[in-house]
Amino acid sequence: MLISITEKCRMGCSHCMDDAKADCDKFMSEEIFRKAIDFNLKYDPTITITGGEPTEHPKFWEFMDIIAEKIAKKGSIALIVTTNGMNLTNGDIPKMRALREKAGNKSLVSYQVTHVPEYYPIHVDLTLDVFKEPDVVIADKIEYLQCIGRAKNHPEWKFYQPTAPKCFNFRSLIKGGCNITDSVHSLRSMGKFCTPQISYDGHIKVGETTLCPNVAFITDSESLILRKIRSFTCSSCSHITDRMPDYYKQAIGEK
Ligand code: SF4
Ligand code: SF4
Repeated sequence: MLISITEKCRMGCSHCMDDAKADCDKFMSEEIFRKAIDFNLKYDPTITITGGEPTEHPKFWEFMDIIAEKIAKKGSIALIVTTNGMNLTNGDIPKMRALREKAGNKSLVSYQVTHVPEYYPIHVDLTLDVFKEPDVVIADKIEYLQCIGRAKNHPEWKFYQPTAPKCFNFRSLIKGGCNITDSVHSLRSMGKFCTPQISYDGHIKVGETTLCPNVAFITDSESLILRKIRSFTCSSCSHITDRMPDYYKQAIGEK
């Protein structure tokens, strides 16, 4: 499950599937953040904090402290922060170490720094000590471009031919009768952590990009969320869904 705490990002990549912009003012409030963490942990012990660029949120490190309190109480939580790294400095090392210490041995903290110079217009100095911390994982290649947002106009996306939109696995599991916990567990066992997503304002989206439509809200009951997802349809990825075989379309209720 993803928690998108802001849709702002100053990096300005042409392949951005969120169409994230520097002049965006969409930031998750602390009230929604606390509710989002509780919602996440009700169904999934893995918390993925993302954006936009999550470190653009003015309360990013305060939010990390809130998660640290939860980890200290609950334990056995995996916290993953996805970032482009441009706001991380050596001055953040003590905060990273304090968070890791609070998390203890039973939990995992990881900063996934994606930086691919040919795709990212502002270059990050990956030789800084902060990027050598044991919690930091550097991703230096892009596996595929999801053809939504600015990536739809990127010259390379046509080389990537997804068989289904990013929401497919989660929606087909829910549509097939699974509840949220079982669906998230199945996705996790396949190494897929990016759906569903909680947006900055507390809405639930079934796909990975912030451009996906809102489907439900984190304070809805589980039965209402499941009903809303099962009746949800979306034509935004018709360039992918139109090519899907009929049984794929039926699996997510698009036929
Ligand atoms: S791809 Fe990531 S780093 Fe680039 S603009 Fe979008 S959110 Fe920012
Ligand atoms: S935009 Fe619609 S079809 Fe595309 S991934 Fe999001 S929810 Fe699915």
